[in-house]
Amino acid sequence: MKLDEKLKEYFGFTHFRKGQKEVIESVLNGFDTLAVLPTGNGKSLCYQLAGYILGGPVVIISPLLSLMQDQVESIRYRGEKKVAAYNSFLTKEEKQEFWKRIGQYRFIFFSPEMITSDYVQAQLANLPISLLVVDEAHCISQWGYDFRPDYLQLGSVRKALGHPTVLALTATATPEVQDDIKQKLLFKERHKTFNAGINRPNLLFHVEHTAGIQEKFEYTLTFANRLPKPGIIYFSSKRMAEEVCDWLKANGHEKTSFYHADLESDDRILIQQQFLKNELDIICATSAFGMGVNKEDVRFVIHFQPPLQLESYVQEIGRAGRDGTESYCVMLYASLDEQLQHQLIDYELPSENEVVYFFECIEKGQDPKGMLDDNVLHETHVRILSFLYKNIQFKDSKEAISKILKWVEQRRKLKIEKARAMMNFIHSNQCRREFMIRYFKETAIAHQEVCCDNCGWSIFSAEPQPRQIQQSDTFDWKAELAKMLGQREGSYIK
Ligand code: ADP
Repeated sequence: MKLDEKLKEYFGFTHFRKGQKEVIESVLNGFDTLAVLPTGNGKSLCYQLAGYILGGPVVIISPLLSLMQDQVESIRYRGEKKVAAYNSFLTKEEKQEFWKRIGQYRFIFFSPEMITSDYVQAQLANLPISLLVVDEAHCISQWGYDFRPDYLQLGSVRKALGHPTVLALTATATPEVQDDIKQKLLFKERHKTFNAGINRPNLLFHVEHTAGIQEKFEYTLTFANRLPKPGIIYFSSKRMAEEVCDWLKANGHEKTSFYHADLESDDRILIQQQFLKNELDIICATSAFGMGVNKEDVRFVIHFQPPLQLESYVQEIGRAGRDGTESYCVMLYASLDEQLQHQLIDYELPSENEVVYFFECIEKGQDPKGMLDDNVLHETHVRILSFLYKNIQFKDSKEAISKILKWVEQRRKLKIEKARAMMNFIHSNQCRREFMIRYFKETAIAHQEVCCDNCGWSIFSAEPQPRQIQQSDTFDWKAELAKMLGQREGSYIK
C-alpha cells in the first residue's frame, strides 16, 4: 500500500511532513509509538490517516474540552461526519444519542476523566478499537501527579479497551517524561519513539535581570512597544496578569486582554477567538492559555515570571514563531522569583494537615467530594489524595498517612529540582539554546549565528516597530529606558 496515495486520497496533500510517514508506518505495523513532534507539524494527521487505513474506530484522549472541540470541528470541516466527543457538556439526550451511534464513529474523543469511568469503559468494551491515541501525552507526567490523577490510570483504560495499539503524541518530553508516558500507557517491549527535537532556530532568547516587580512592569511595556506583535505574556499569578494587562492598556496597548482559569468559559473562548482573528495584540495569561491555540504568527512570548520547570517553558515559548519567522522569547527575572517558586510548589502539594484531615474524614465514612465544604482541603488535593488512597497498600490510616507524606516529600524534591534547573537556565552565561537541548538530553546542534543574549545577540537590536517608535535606527533605547525608569520610579505601586 502506498501511503503517499492514501495521504492524497484522504487529505489532498502531496507530501508528508517530517516524521508523519514514519509515525503512521509504525502504528500500522502494530508498534506502540511515541511521537515527539513540534506543534503545528501535523500530529493529528498521523492518527487520522492511520485510523482510515486500520479501519476500526480510533479513541483519542484529549486534555481540554476546547482542544477536543477544535479537533472535532476540523475533522468535520474536512467532510468526515463519523466523529464525536463525549464530555460533560452533552445533555442527557445527546449522551443517549452518542451511545446509540457509538458503533458508527471513526474518531471518538474523551477526556481522561470521562474514559476512566466504569460506565464508559463498559460501553466501549465490545468496540473493535484499532488505535488508542493520547494527545498532549506529556500531561501524564506534568498534570497526572498534581491535579489530574486520571492520567495515571490510562494503562488500565488500555487494558479495559482490549489492549489496542497506542499512539502517544506530544511536542515536548524529556527522556524521563518519555519513559513515564511509556510506562503509564503500558507500552510493549517492542515499541518506537520518534523525536524531532525541541530546537526552533527562529526563536531568539533574552533574559532580563530586573530589580523587582516595578522594573518588570517597565520592561514589559518597553518590550510591548518595541517587539512585533501579536504576543503572549505569561504569568504565574492571575492577579498579576490582570494588573499588567491594565498597565499596558493604560499605556497605549488597548488591544490587550487577560486570560486565566477564573474567567467564565464563554469569555475564555471569546478572548481566544479575538486573538486568533488579530483583534487582540497581546494576551496576559497564565499557563491556562495556549494549548490548542493554533496561531502561526505569534511574534513574542514574554515570561513575566518563570514557570516551575523548563518543560513548561519550552511548551510556552513554542507558541511563538510557528510560521518559521524570527520571534522573541523574553524572560523577566527578579530575585524574588525564587521565593515565589517555592510558594507555588507548596501550594501545589497537599500539606500534612490536609493529609491527616483527609484520613479523619475517611474514617468517619465521609465521601471525599463532601470534604470540600469544610474548606480545609483544596479541591485538587482531594483528587490526588483520593487517588493515592485507592492505589497504595496500607494496614491502617497511620501507615497510609506516613506513606502519602513520603510521596509528597518525593514530589516536592522533584519539583524543587526542576525549579532549580529553570533558575539555572536564567542565571547561566552559556548559550540558552544549548542549555535547553542539554536539559532535554538531545544531541548537540551546530551553533547558530543569531541565537540568544549569551551568544552576543541583543534583543535591543531587534528592528523597532514603526507604529510606536519614531526614532532613527541609532536610537539608544537602553538609555531611553533608563530615563523612563528614573521618571516613573514609584509610579506603579500596588
Ligand atoms: P499539531 O497537532 O501537530 O499541532 P495539526 O495536526 O493541528 O498540528 O496540523 C496543523 C496544520 O497542518 C493543519 O492545518 C493540517 O491540515 C496541516 N497539515 C498536516 N499535515 C500536513 C501535510 N502533510 N501537508 C500539508 N499540511 C499538513
